[in-house]
Amino acid sequence: MGRRGLPATHLPPFSLNELAPCGISQFEDPLDFRLINTEDTISRLLSLIRDARDRVVLVSPYTTLAAEDRVGRALSEALARKVKVMLFVREDDQTQPRKDWLEALQPLLKAGLKLYGVPGLHAKLYLSESTALVTSLNLLASSFLNTIEVGLCSDEKEAVKQAEAFIQREILPHARQSSERAKKPPRSSPPATAWRTRTTGHCIRCAEEIALKADKPYCRDCYDEWADWGNPDYLDAFCHSCGVDHPSSMNKPLCRDCYRAQA
Ligand SMILES: [Zn+2]
Ligand SMILES: [Zn+2]
Repeated sequence: MGRRGLPATHLPPFSLNELAPCGISQFEDPLDFRLINTEDTISRLLSLIRDARDRVVLVSPYTTLAAEDRVGRALSEALARKVKVMLFVREDDQTQPRKDWLEALQPLLKAGLKLYGVPGLHAKLYLSESTALVTSLNLLASSFLNTIEVGLCSDEKEAVKQAEAFIQREILPHARQSSERAKKPPRSSPPATAWRTRTTGHCIRCAEEIALKADKPYCRDCYDEWADWGNPDYLDAFCHSCGVDHPSSMNKPLCRDCYRAQA
């Protein structure tokens, strides 16, 4: 591209009027679509974490998140309030989280942050039970300083529902618990054949022991909470059958091992 060398003044002047023929002026109804810039994206992300009462899901392929960062501090506080925090990063043969980064993340992992690796992950999405933020922003220190990012943020129930469904559909099937966490033994390891003989399971939200019924994966209290929204794709924390940490939902209450054992 020969253009790159040209001084900025040689670029044709850009006028918003040029957009009019594309139809912008035709929209009479206020559109629920407001793009936000880097600064607003960061501040919405921080509010999303600070206001979360139940969960925070961070989808950030490239991450240098550390416990002492602004975001890291907000996450520590959220974890201290018993908010569930899940972080999805890119992890495949070409892209591995760096050792020093995993070191920096240790305090958050110890505080309960769940880390998942997803091959080929390039989407960025931040979500609480009440806010969805779709953006170009990775949780990188550099993004917070000198990159130009764009974001789209919504507190609409429908937006949150869509974001959850997206994670369920596009990301979870490829997610694996990061090797760094996998060193921690699961609370009970399921023999693959146990599904048929097992009669007790676990609430997918609080892990309490309950009857094993794939269509009733919540304990009574958690079911009442869940029923406020009734979203069958809402992500909870444990496999209904074996009780290991696993992003589970009413629709998909089992970890992959238990799912396979059942089939
Ligand atoms: Zn429960
Ligand atoms: Zn399981």
